[in-house]
Amino acid sequence: MKDETKIVHAGRDSAAHSGAVNTPVYHASTILFPTLAALDAAPRARIRYARRGTPTLFALEDALTALEGGAGAALFPSGLAAAGFALLSCLKTGDHVLLTDSVYDPVRAFADRVLTGLGIAVEYYDPLIGGGMTRLLRSNTRVVYCESPGSHTFEIQDLPAIAATAHAGGASVIADNTWATPLLCKPLSLGADIVIHAATKYIGGHSDLMLGVLVANEATVRKVKLTAGLFGQTSGPDDIFMTLRGLRSLKARLDRHSSSARRVSGWLQTRAEVARVLDPSLPDFPGHALWKRDFAGASGLFSFILGRDWPRPALAAMLDGMQLFKMGYSWGGFESLILPFDIAKYRSATRWETPGPAIRLSIGLEDPDELIADLAAGFARLTSAAS
Ligand SMILES: *Cc1c(COP(=O)(O)O)cnc(C)c1O
Repeated sequence: MKDETKIVHAGRDSAAHSGAVNTPVYHASTILFPTLAALDAAPRARIRYARRGTPTLFALEDALTALEGGAGAALFPSGLAAAGFALLSCLKTGDHVLLTDSVYDPVRAFADRVLTGLGIAVEYYDPLIGGGMTRLLRSNTRVVYCESPGSHTFEIQDLPAIAATAHAGGASVIADNTWATPLLCKPLSLGADIVIHAATKYIGGHSDLMLGVLVANEATVRKVKLTAGLFGQTSGPDDIFMTLRGLRSLKARLDRHSSSARRVSGWLQTRAEVARVLDPSLPDFPGHALWKRDFAGASGLFSFILGRDWPRPALAAMLDGMQLFKMGYSWGGFESLILPFDIAKYRSATRWETPGPAIRLSIGLEDPDELIADLAAGFARLTSAAS
């Protein structure tokens, strides 16, 4: 089955729900057992206590397991929780973990504070390291954490080379696939053992929920499910339902996000104000060849760098006056977002230097020509405020 068919049908069982197309929202804690025999069989029943899952929760877990090609999934109250528990399930005191220097910065904070506090050695690596990973592996390296493209800066990692090296050294590979969604990249098929998603972003798609997902392969699914269960991780049925609702239309939304983003990134490349556009789909982007090999497309999030340093008030004139692009964290919703960033202090294995401010765009579902006009007016405010 093709993904666009699978995304419509996976995890649904209308016959089990009076014919309803969508799996209903099960608000439940207690699950009742009618007989002693049924209670005795409870440990083997899939549905036995709502923290361990309801039909609503299993509908989403099953759909995402099918889309990622994994052996099982777990849900969390946020993407950050999914990342944290993926790491915790593979690490113990005395181990060593390697994280990409381009990792989502709250995951860096988790590693530096929580993992270090547990006596786990935390080290960052150049996202472009590829097979060069060999020289960083230690006898106690148990996890290599990847995020491709990298947060804000969009470095594309050579996941197959990294995974082969990590596995040869006895380490598991965790990959954050939030940018690509399961439709544009399948990290498990490229060698990852665990894939995590902030479903908060594209999968939810409407800026109205927080949810994290982890999908694992056969070799790791038992231990990650066990850790998630021991820590009592689950997610509320309304958020899960909304995530499922978003998932069903993901393909159509992503196609539009992608085509509009390519229009905008191509236009930005023609602008004198812009030094560089960080979009893996552009032929002159450094990781373009790897992106082409491993991804089925590009989503709607990318960055660009202004060619010189502008006074803060000029940047404010540009950003404060935007009509369609709004400022805010997160991304992947139907609305376009613009965010200036400086990640120099979130890089330790590599250096981040730019001639001017860096700006990230999340391209929404608006008309792309109107988005371009909004940016053009913003550049006009920028230059006139500075002159
Ligand atoms: C947002 C994000 C997360 C964390 O997701 P939350 O649901 O906000 O906790 C993790 N990874 C990436 C790449 C993200 O952009």
